[in-house]
Amino acid sequence: MNAYDFDLLVIGGGSGGVRAARMAAQRGARVALAEAQGQGGLGGTCVNVGCIPKKLYSYAAHYGESFEEARGFGWEGAAPRLNWAALKANRTQEINRLNGVYAHLLRAAGVTLLYGFAQLQDAHNVRLGTLNADGSAGHAQYSAERILVATGGTPHVPHFQGREHVITSNEVFDLEPFPQRLLVVGGGYIACEFASIFNGLGTQVTQLYRGEQILRGFDDEVRHFAAAEMQKAGVDLRLNAGVLAIHRAADGLHVQLEDGNQLVVDAALYATGRVPNVTDLGLARVGVAQNAQGAVVVNDVYQTNVPSIYALGDVTAQVQLTPVALGEAMALVDHLYGPPPGKQPRDMRYDLIPTAVFTHPNIGTVGLTEAQARAQFGQVTVFRSEFHALKHTLSGRTERTLMKLVVDTASDRVVGLHMVGAEAGEIVQGFAVAMRAGATKAVFDSTLGIHPTAAEEFVTMREPVAARPTA
Ligand SMILES: Cc1cc2nc3c(=O)[nH]c(=O)nc-3n(C[C@H](O)[C@H](O)[C@H](O)COP(=O)(O)OP(=O)(O)OC[C@H]3O[C@@H](n4cnc5c(N)ncnc54)[C@H](O)[C@@H]3O)c2cc1C
Repeated sequence: MNAYDFDLLVIGGGSGGVRAARMAAQRGARVALAEAQGQGGLGGTCVNVGCIPKKLYSYAAHYGESFEEARGFGWEGAAPRLNWAALKANRTQEINRLNGVYAHLLRAAGVTLLYGFAQLQDAHNVRLGTLNADGSAGHAQYSAERILVATGGTPHVPHFQGREHVITSNEVFDLEPFPQRLLVVGGGYIACEFASIFNGLGTQVTQLYRGEQILRGFDDEVRHFAAAEMQKAGVDLRLNAGVLAIHRAADGLHVQLEDGNQLVVDAALYATGRVPNVTDLGLARVGVAQNAQGAVVVNDVYQTNVPSIYALGDVTAQVQLTPVALGEAMALVDHLYGPPPGKQPRDMRYDLIPTAVFTHPNIGTVGLTEAQARAQFGQVTVFRSEFHALKHTLSGRTERTLMKLVVDTASDRVVGLHMVGAEAGEIVQGFAVAMRAGATKAVFDSTLGIHPTAAEEFVTMREPVAARPTA
């Protein structure tokens, strides 16, 4: 046994920290996990103010659409109204339950839970800010052979006149009262998802994005298609647009736009990017290297330049997704404490990461965009299908679905798969397995479809789109 209090002290009880702490303890390490928000913070961004509450609200918004669509299927009567307070209360109850599940899993694995804000003191020591029984501030000090920084990210709002009036994704779930008019600023997946969700819940949504098109980094056709569908569904999406200033007045927030127009809204949500959560963490004191944006720099085994300090997940600002943080945590634990008996050490790979955007309709994607594939392989063959889903022949909705396959012509391997349409995330997950296994277009062609589904289109596309000039 070493002389430290713990073998591993994890800072941050989010997706990556919880998984690393639990797995390391299960391998026999003496592990502590520090979480600044107490038990209510366990699960981190994803559980408390990210993936989970967002998906619950997305379901709520889909109900609104379903009530309308049901008329085409013979259902009659007045559509139910949204009880925003009930939705918020039910969400809170579920998140509290999840926080408890995380605490239980960690304790059951033998992890010591430390509630308080942790700061690095040196390469092996952490100071924990705590509350004394009388409410006064106290602190405790712990030593560890290794320290893992898994403090995640936090929303970034640019400086402008009226910044104090806006909210971020951290506050949007508890908005009070329900916003009848919402401004969403940003064009990334978080901005687009909240624009779709509140639009679906009945809010009049205006979304502003500085760039030419939303969802930078996604396939260009997907970006244009999703933007058009969001607009069709009712989001007032304005591109090449920005805010000059915001003032509070009796009738709401007065938003002065760069193009000279003005909007009046009840709330303004800024989803303009996230930055690593490193404030007051003590990285500089200990000499942990950070990049220009503040992200902790790590090598391929998540080790910083201070050999006893590791970092993973959003604080390293690589691919900011929960399954990535989980994968990194498991790879790190295998590296430090060995894989489970009979298993190979887990290899974290950053290619073919499947992902979904819960806009309405959803986006699901895995692999390369058409442009990336052209740059990487030169010759690619593209298959594309766009259609009005069977359900909407009766629902009355004009929503369309897009599916697209990008194939490396030389090897016939499917290197990109993209969908905009209902349940795209659910559908793409299965195809991601096939692509990880190296499936070729010939394998897709030899797979029978499940009829009648939208997903079957991925295995029935036969005619490539005409060759397009390379950009
Ligand atoms: C609105 C939104 C929606 C998202 N939707 C999705 C989605 O659908 N799918 C998906 O895969 N990903 C989604 N993400 C991203 C996902 O939430 C993150 O990638 C993931 O949570 C990263 O995990 P992490 O462990 O790196 O950090 P986090 O989950 O952010 O956890 C960090 C934890 O560290 C704690 N902490 C910070 N500093 C200290 C300190 N000094 N001492 C002690 N504790 C500290 C924090 O309180 C927090 O609990 C979403 C994110 C947002 C914001």
